Amino acid sequence: DTYDKGMEKTRKNFSERISDLFSGFREIDEDFYEDLEETLISADVGFNMTIALTDAIRDEIEAQNVYREDDVKRVMIEKMVEIYEKNGEPGAELLNINPDGPTVILFVGVNGVGKTTSVGKIGYQLKQEGHSVLFAAADTFRAGATEQLTVWGERLDIPVVSGKDQGDPASVVYDAVHQAQDEGIDYVLVDTAGRLQTKANLMQELAKIKRIIERENPNGVQEVMLVLDATTGQNAVIQAQQFNEATEITGLVLTKLDGTAKGGVVLSIRYDLDIPVKYIGLGEQATDLQVFDAEQYMYNLVK
Ligand code: GDP
Repeated sequence: DTYDKGMEKTRKNFSERISDLFSGFREIDEDFYEDLEETLISADVGFNMTIALTDAIRDEIEAQNVYREDDVKRVMIEKMVEIYEKNGEPGAELLNINPDGPTVILFVGVNGVGKTTSVGKIGYQLKQEGHSVLFAAADTFRAGATEQLTVWGERLDIPVVSGKDQGDPASVVYDAVHQAQDEGIDYVLVDTAGRLQTKANLMQELAKIKRIIERENPNGVQEVMLVLDATTGQNAVIQAQQFNEATEITGLVLTKLDGTAKGGVVLSIRYDLDIPVKYIGLGEQATDLQVFDAEQYMYNLVK
């Protein structure tokens, strides 16, 4: 299916390397664990997570006294899921919903990570599930951002609220929230500008957007989703740290997992920052998006 196809690069590179660990007859000894650590680091699992994961795998392999490739891989998947999930509550991949008005989701992230595309894909998925959706083009800063979102809106038959180029994003959000309330729309997906180079600006702008929504919408903002490009590996972790300092991030969209062998970055971000991955992007089309499923994901990495 699309999931398997999309994950091909991530899976092949990671799982090929995992399989290489077993090539020829070898014992599950110190050398094995050193090679495993190297493999995890190169898949961008991150240093802290690699150490914790290798320790957990070693303990379990010793406890179960297993040595066959199949069994060792099974233990690895179990431990990856366990460590991932222990770091958060179950069901963390689900969206927070507003029971008293439109559910407002802010999308933040630096330019080029796939923010606008993710807004389009998630709008499509919510619509497929039978929800009504409105897009708010609050990235009035980047030339072409509004137009790009408008193209998605036309393609998916989803209304788009926009403002003037370089206009005030807060007024776009104000209009969008009121239109959604007036028309009984379920979800408002807000595309925002990403200017990490001026962190103070970014913080101010996001704070202002949130303040307007808190004033105009019962229960304010339900999700602040950070969009990250998985191909940037550990840079994605650094971006997550920086954005999390600017505003409280409630979930992640990890894009471009179809084009990378660095799928381990999922584990790293969860371990270091405790922010759950909610969606993964596996291509450029509306359908190339999956709700994150830790078990399926880890299985695809290792199998
Ligand atoms: P933004 O600047 O963050 O809004 O990024 P865009 O949404 O404009 O996306 C930048 C580029 O990445 C575009 O060419 C998208 O088609 C592409 N892109 C977005 N998500 C994915 C993905 O999951 N996989 C692949 N292969 N490309 C993606």
